Amino acid sequence: MITVTKPFQPPKENFDKYLQGIWRRNWLTNNGPLVNELETKLKQYFDLRHAIFLSNGTIALQIAIKALKLTGEIITTPFSYVATTSTIYWENCKPIFAEIDEDSFNISPDSIPNYISKNTSAILATHCFGNPCDIEKLEKISKKYNLKIIYDAAHCFGTFYKGKSIFSYGNISTSSFHATKMFHTIEGGAIFTSNSTLAHKTRYLRNFGHNGQEDFFGLGINGKNSEVHAAMGLCNIEFANSILETRKRQWEYYKKSLENGKVKFQKLNEQGTYNYAYFPIVFESERELLKVKKELEKHLIYSRRYFYPSLNKLPYIKNVSRKKSERLASTILCLPLYHTLSVEEQDMICGIISKECYSG
Ligand SMILES: *Cc1c(COP(=O)(O)O)cnc(C)c1O
Repeated sequence: MITVTKPFQPPKENFDKYLQGIWRRNWLTNNGPLVNELETKLKQYFDLRHAIFLSNGTIALQIAIKALKLTGEIITTPFSYVATTSTIYWENCKPIFAEIDEDSFNISPDSIPNYISKNTSAILATHCFGNPCDIEKLEKISKKYNLKIIYDAAHCFGTFYKGKSIFSYGNISTSSFHATKMFHTIEGGAIFTSNSTLAHKTRYLRNFGHNGQEDFFGLGINGKNSEVHAAMGLCNIEFANSILETRKRQWEYYKKSLENGKVKFQKLNEQGTYNYAYFPIVFESERELLKVKKELEKHLIYSRRYFYPSLNKLPYIKNVSRKKSERLASTILCLPLYHTLSVEEQDMICGIISKECYSG
């Protein structure tokens, strides 16, 4: 069976070594030494000012919204994972969907001014599939209209933009280290910021608002992560370069095998270096997509409709239409991509796609 993704597993001995230390110290969670070591490694790896390790990428978005004290309306992309929108709702703000750019799959900066009102407090944009947004244009808009920017960089481990880690942009960037992401801590996420006040706030927000044992800075939640999760991250970060290289090779092989066919690819931002996190293909019609998906499933190959439906179609959203995002959502399929996917398996996948796309 070939699934759309498989979690990377480091050699078990490496994990065992960390576990021995955890047992010896008997320190399982609450800002332990491995959590701190992972934060330091992430900062070094990406040359960042502050990295705060959290329990998942969803709480990272919620804490980002809280830390920036956002209220009212937040302009966001309708083409992302559901957490990008649901966290806005959860924090009692209103998601306002801009349109997307059909080529990059990211929020279209030019569409944003149409949706700005006196209640707009921020932009929450996803670098979709690890492809950097048009950060320059977004920054111009945020300055002009005095809006904060949060980047949902859940797909972006290893993506750079203009020579700097993508995590260094925006008032806050968040990421997810969920097991399905290319770098993971089983469950986990992070907030990155260059602002020390926001970093401090994030640290107390993740820990119930505590200022020591008997005092509180303010309201907080439990967004901490454990020593065991940090240990998995410390194991995996050793392999980050090799994971990236393997992905690049697999990604380029897909591209070469499919580029003379009918499917279209995501247009990558030329100011950035890509991390090859996903391999999405776009069909001419939903009918064609469903035909290919079904045929792949007959061969026990499981692709995924990332992202479907377009988020403006969520049941708790007032019915709005965003044609470009809906069209993309109905015609896009992500192909299997993970560390141990073989060339033979890729050949089989591409063979089925090519055959189905050319047969009536
Ligand atoms: C995975 C993902 C999230 C949520 O991260 P979790 O760690 O699973 O909570 C948020 N946004 C995007 C774009 C994602 O892909």
